[in-house]
Amino acid sequence: MLLNQDIGHLEDGVSAKIIRVGKGCNNHCITCNSCGKDFGNFSNALKKIQNKGNSEQVIFTGSEPAIQPGFIEAVKMSSNLEYRSIQVISNGRIFASGDFTKKALEAGLSEILIKFPSHKKDIFEKITRVPGSYEQTIQGIKNLKRRSKKFNYLFEAVVVCGIYITEDNNNEIQETVGFLEKLDVDEIFLINTGELKNIEVPKTKVPIFTLGFKSTNRYEDYVKKGVLSPKTTDF
Ligand code: SF4
Repeated sequence: MLLNQDIGHLEDGVSAKIIRVGKGCNNHCITCNSCGKDFGNFSNALKKIQNKGNSEQVIFTGSEPAIQPGFIEAVKMSSNLEYRSIQVISNGRIFASGDFTKKALEAGLSEILIKFPSHKKDIFEKITRVPGSYEQTIQGIKNLKRRSKKFNYLFEAVVVCGIYITEDNNNEIQETVGFLEKLDVDEIFLINTGELKNIEVPKTKVPIFTLGFKSTNRYEDYVKKGVLSPKTTDF
């Protein structure tokens, strides 16, 4: 996610606009109550983006921002205002539409963090509780990788997959990471929420960022190295 090289090389003091939009999501994950179709008011998000200040990043989050009406417009606006990084945290399903993916990338979306619970359909959909979500998310990742190379001549969007470790998926994290490696994702973000102890960090050639593991990368270490900004601000 935030280990993108571009961000790593930004000077100290860079901050982000974290835009939380609506409460609607087309998944119904067992660990989340952000279901339903309450999309809130996207115009407030646009105002926050316009008030750029010294921010260099926009991060769209809050349920499923990419399915909300106005998302592409907000990405375009961010791009026109020359934010250096425009990110979305997503379940990836809407990117199964090649047309939507093309529009989002051409609007300037530069980084997509996709929640990916498991390489196994039954576990994946036990967590998301939506039949067909597994295939759509995988197709979304493939479209993003393929179209990023094809349509963005100046840069390639970064695709990051985030695995939240739960009792359902913790026994096969290594296999899930291997599966994502084959999909050619750019980074993997692994989060242990703390209830499961002694989980090994999987081996992978893909850059991996971990949270909640005893002996590995910690947020503070990245801040010290200047890779993450301690001044991320929430508007
Ligand atoms: S995809 Fe994210 S926002 Fe949607 S239900 Fe799952 S955890 Fe919640």
